[in-house]
Amino acid sequence: MVFEKKSNKKVIVVGAGFSGMACAIKLLEAGYSNVTVYEKNANVGGTWETNKYPGLTCDVPAMSYTFSFERSPEFSRQYPAWQEIRAYCRNVSAKYDLNSYIQFNKEVAEADFLDNKWHIKTTDGESDIADVVIMATGVLRNLNYPDIPGMDDFAGDLVHTGKWDESLNLKGKRVGVIGNGATCTQLVPAIIDEVASLELFQRTAHWVAPFIGGNPDVSESQRQALRDDPQRMQDTANRMLKSIEKMVDGILVDTTGQTTANLKQQCMDRLGEIKDPDLRAKLTPDYKPGCKRFIWSETFYPAMQKENAHLVTEGIESIEPKGIRTADGKLHEMDVLILATGYRMHDYMRPMKIRGEAGVLLDDVWDDGEFALRGVAIPEFPNMFMIMGPNSPLTNFSVIEVAEWQIGYFMPLIEQILSGEFLSVQASAEATKIFNDKLIASMPDTIWAAGCNSYYLDKNGNPNVWPDTVASYRESMKTADMKEFVVRWEDRESKVS
Ligand code: NAP
Repeated sequence: MVFEKKSNKKVIVVGAGFSGMACAIKLLEAGYSNVTVYEKNANVGGTWETNKYPGLTCDVPAMSYTFSFERSPEFSRQYPAWQEIRAYCRNVSAKYDLNSYIQFNKEVAEADFLDNKWHIKTTDGESDIADVVIMATGVLRNLNYPDIPGMDDFAGDLVHTGKWDESLNLKGKRVGVIGNGATCTQLVPAIIDEVASLELFQRTAHWVAPFIGGNPDVSESQRQALRDDPQRMQDTANRMLKSIEKMVDGILVDTTGQTTANLKQQCMDRLGEIKDPDLRAKLTPDYKPGCKRFIWSETFYPAMQKENAHLVTEGIESIEPKGIRTADGKLHEMDVLILATGYRMHDYMRPMKIRGEAGVLLDDVWDDGEFALRGVAIPEFPNMFMIMGPNSPLTNFSVIEVAEWQIGYFMPLIEQILSGEFLSVQASAEATKIFNDKLIASMPDTIWAAGCNSYYLDKNGNPNVWPDTVASYRESMKTADMKEFVVRWEDRESKVS
């Protein structure tokens, strides 16, 4: 595809996952071809490029887990394996010729706002300069390594699911898994039949519901029918998104509690099928459903009932060369230790060092907790926009939809910078404070503050997600209210009214 060049001004996008790809496509389509995307991996796809642990599956119906402008019927199941999501990303990239704009294997280490430009440095010492920078770094990026004494002493193979070693042979091995979130519930059923034994170290039980609508195969004739009728494909995806939205809203704001009650019943029905009462009791959560992100799996409980599967709920005391020592003094010997301990969701763009106006360091600005204006902009960081920043909706809804809304929201601002109309634009400190004060005030009433520990909570224990309906966030992303931004022109600055 050839794109017209509308401005000499340059945009740097950091990250070529779903969000970064959407940014690049939207900029190119709008005629701005002076775009460079920096991507630390060797290919597009972000978390779908780095993750490849056994059993990895998309837990959102795949047709709705696509760009709204590039729906695809090319999935073999409703919830397909990761290879199909990865292939989708690569196909979209090829279709839009994104690879011509992406610098692969380049991780941005620093971004400094100097003389109204963003100065970028990569970890390999290269530099670049742009008028606008978009941080599309995603949240499933910085691996969470648990702080357990003795971790480095383990003599066997130690692997984090987010950095899976495909040469690792689990056949006949004694395997330990720490963590029982979405990743674990996909991993365990995929490996249970090949390992000699599997001990799952569970700190907190999760609510595990059956897949919405099951996980039926999609036949070639069904796929062909969708290829032949793009409108039907779009309608199908929209229907799926509507039903997820209804469920997410139901968990969060349904005052009747009916959605949560229904989901809980489905979880309880599945728990009821576990034959061993002790195992059933240990797998039954003791906190309100929805407090942590719901997990979908049909196969996790059957896997945990196999003879070679063992659930360990004694706390982990330390890791030793031969295995894990639990609080009851028992040493659980193993050959392989798998960390399914997730991500540091609140790191956002870090460890990148980002300095805004007058050299202010983002790490210092966020020292007391991460915040932003509507998840996309930060005061004192002009001409910088984020996707999936603090308080973006991050529950069971499709993050691709949210990313597209956010891009639609800040794109007109970027266009005014690129056209030379604005010298700079940044979130107003006052508007950001008002916005965040409102968010914080509404959090104690949300399900996330119901007393469980989850990655929704920041270091102060405040949920850092969108505390209202999906529609209310979508609405707030329709148009930027310029009263919430400070704009600079060559000769003047806007004032917040
Ligand atoms: P997670 O949900 O954050 O779960 C991490 C698990 O590790 C939890 O069970 C946690 O226990 C445990 N853990 C962490 N530190 C520990 C410690 N020091 N000792 C013992 N246990 C510890 O991570 P995840 O399962 O990787 O999932 C992360 C997110 O990735 C998901 O919520 C989802 O957004 C995404 N994901 C998506 C898909 C998909 O198909 N789209 C698939 C997989 C993951 P506690 O619960 O007690 O904290």
